Amino acid sequence: MSLGTEFVGGVAEGPVPFFTQARTFERLWPEISGRICDVFDNGKFSHGEQVGELETALAEYTGARRVVGVNSGTDALVLLLRALGVRSGDEVVVPAYSFIATATAVVLAGGTPVFADIDPATYALDPDEIARVATPRTRFVMPAHLFCRMADVDGINEVARDLALTVVEDSAEAIGMRHGGVHAGLHGAGGVLSFFPTKTLGALGDAGAVLTDDDHVADAVAALRHHGRVGRTLNDFPAISTETAMAGTNSKMDDIQAAILLAKLRHLDDDIARRAALAERYRAGLDGVVPLPDPGDAPVFYVQLIEVELRDALAEHLAERGIGTEVYYPAPLHLQPCFAAHGHRRGDFPRAETASARALALPLHADLEPEQVDGVCATIREFYAGRP
Ligand SMILES: *Cc1c(COP(=O)(O)O)cnc(C)c1O
Repeated sequence: MSLGTEFVGGVAEGPVPFFTQARTFERLWPEISGRICDVFDNGKFSHGEQVGELETALAEYTGARRVVGVNSGTDALVLLLRALGVRSGDEVVVPAYSFIATATAVVLAGGTPVFADIDPATYALDPDEIARVATPRTRFVMPAHLFCRMADVDGINEVARDLALTVVEDSAEAIGMRHGGVHAGLHGAGGVLSFFPTKTLGALGDAGAVLTDDDHVADAVAALRHHGRVGRTLNDFPAISTETAMAGTNSKMDDIQAAILLAKLRHLDDDIARRAALAERYRAGLDGVVPLPDPGDAPVFYVQLIEVELRDALAEHLAERGIGTEVYYPAPLHLQPCFAAHGHRRGDFPRAETASARALALPLHADLEPEQVDGVCATIREFYAGRP
């Protein structure tokens, strides 16, 4: 069977879209289509051979002892927390500024998120804030690594030891990020990856994975993603299970997504280097115009953030000129309506609130050309010219 080697997808509209992977797919289409053909030939479209191969390849890339593929980064967080034994009444300290799933995953796993403020230098959970919000019911702490650098995992681990908390990492954005040679997600009990299309390693739909060095945790996640079934290898499970040990869910990964990710993973380090060069160009182009956040020692640019006055007016100015931006993240988590019962108010976590009000993400992806970055920088300079 053949799908042909010509790429038939569309090319994104507009001069500088916030995100597109049309050209990446065009470039990699021979590899991707070959792998997709393997899926058709193999005939198993969910939880099959390509998923197993991807898990092995990701274990090699990250250095994790075990990688378990699931349906999304959100499911990876929920199943990881469940596998670690989060129970009703357990509190999990989370940053007040992150993607909403960092906090909602805790609720879906049966726990209670407890918010803490961020360190404005990393945009991640501030280790010094954990003890301020922890109570005798607090059992876990879950930092999120955002944009281009990791949370202060050493500081967080130290506090966690003192308070006897288990560290879980929301490393959904952090593929390729390492601290002390150890990949994000492997500094505590486990972490996750998201392969949502816009992520540094993006699929053509939803997919995610759990990373852990703990076999018990990995086995539990592998069972939970598949209706709680145990004792089955990926390629050998019967249609009807007689060994359901716990109430699981259906969070299997699609093999078509796994095939796409396997093809793209081989080029991930090139993409990361390309993103770094583009980020460097932003830094040069915006020098003296807007301050760029300090990227730290070993950045991996998932997002190029700027923090600015007049954020919304700038976004509009860029949009009118065909330049896409995104607000990461528009409301701090403690002020989201779904957490109204926590009774938080504006002012409770001022640094998270400031980031939400001022942060703007600029286009940064493997399809972006250096000249497009120059254009974005020129448009930002034009916006600020003549303003105090
Ligand atoms: C993307 C993301 C998630 C969720 O991943 P999905 O695959 O979209 O479910 C969770 N946390 C953070 C910080 C993310 O950026």
